[in-house]
Amino acid sequence: MNIGQEILLKLKDEITEVEYNRYIKQLTYDAKKSTTDLAVFYAPNTLISNWIKNKFTLKLEHLFELKTSNRVTVNIGLKHFFDKRKAKKEIKKTTVHSLLNPSHTFDNFMIGGSNQFAYAAVKSVSEKPGETYNPLFIHGGVGLGKTHLMQAAGNALQNQGKNVIYTTSEQFLNDFLRHVRNQTMEKFKEKYRKCDALLIDDIQFLSNKETIQEEFFHTFEALKSTGKQIILTADKHPKKIGGLEKRLQSRFEHGLVADIQPPELETKIAIIENKCEINKVNLSKDIINYIATVIESNVREIEGILSKLHAYSQLIHVDIDLEFTKNVLKDQIQENRANLTLDNITKFVAKDLNIKPSEIKSKGRSKNIVYARRISIYLCRELTQNTMPQLAQYFGMKDHTAISHTLKKINSLMKDDEDFKVKIEELTNKITSNS
Ligand code: ADP
Ligand code: MG
Repeated sequence: MNIGQEILLKLKDEITEVEYNRYIKQLTYDAKKSTTDLAVFYAPNTLISNWIKNKFTLKLEHLFELKTSNRVTVNIGLKHFFDKRKAKKEIKKTTVHSLLNPSHTFDNFMIGGSNQFAYAAVKSVSEKPGETYNPLFIHGGVGLGKTHLMQAAGNALQNQGKNVIYTTSEQFLNDFLRHVRNQTMEKFKEKYRKCDALLIDDIQFLSNKETIQEEFFHTFEALKSTGKQIILTADKHPKKIGGLEKRLQSRFEHGLVADIQPPELETKIAIIENKCEINKVNLSKDIINYIATVIESNVREIEGILSKLHAYSQLIHVDIDLEFTKNVLKDQIQENRANLTLDNITKFVAKDLNIKPSEIKSKGRSKNIVYARRISIYLCRELTQNTMPQLAQYFGMKDHTAISHTLKKINSLMKDDEDFKVKIEELTNKITSNS
């Protein structure tokens, strides 16, 4: 299989079957005319070539770049009219930096309390590059949208005709090493210093790598002094990265440092609704709420779940209802909750209700202790795989009937008392997002 066919197969995973069969499948790749920075495909007619050009050129270029680390221009031509000179001209015109994922836009980014500050900062920088916050430093945990936001700025700037370089710090390091090896450092300098905006993702990988930090420092200074925008992301605040030259650390803090926190329930719900719309998956409100409570914070996981749900339901021809969702998500939940132990849950409940964990496990009969014990038992049963006899032993109760009695009690309370139900849901959320 040639690389062109490989890329088309990759694209197949990301589009609908109809799109693939009707359009993409009709493309042929011309390995002879293609080079390291040009990929030539032929379509059978203008209708198909126009349709693919409009919809998939960026995506194809993105996939080529991911695969080869080269910026590749994709040309979709008609077999008889293809003219290499024209293709060459087009390359010069469009220095598209296709590493930017075209679907990472501001419109597709859901805003909530957890990310609104970072969003506003990135938006402002994309409107007035080099003028407001320079550098802009975004930090936060895995899967919380740092890359998405950074690339949204990249796409917006590129649409304004700016020369944007987006790279991860690992790629930046590899590129540097390659130029050192080939003794072409001048080219490296020129490339990174003549762009209008430099976006470097996951800068924490430069930690303890002194030579590249030194080079980056000079690139940074050169860009900054000519008013070019720099955007950086990392998993931590610059102060906490460690293994970072002092002067770099202070440069990073010099513009604006904005963090992204794990999304709150409402933001998670908005994100799920948005992803459903994009991926054309139809889910009812209660399923969306369920997924939002099960998934703690990593938004990437939400996307995985939606495609899993969709794929399963297509395979076995069933509608996606709550029961089906729960079944599909079982493994996921167990994985997420692997580190939820009886001790952890009991400690958490004790802290929340302001008593000691040992009191929960004691034989104490005072009202608040019994209350805390019942809640702990209920949550331990819901959130772990322990059996009723195991729980009875842990909580020092006579046997499993005592546990079963407690569970019944809590279930009926939850049915009758809305406040109590909310309290339990809140606790569940807090425990699962802290584990
Ligand atoms: P990070 O770089 O912080 O690890 P990403 O930017 O790669 O995270 O985000 C992971 C996935 O979640 C991406 O597909 C992204 O589009 C999606 N995502 C994250 N936050 C949001 C949000 N607020 N709205 C919509 N999608 C989001
Ligand atoms: Mg990222």
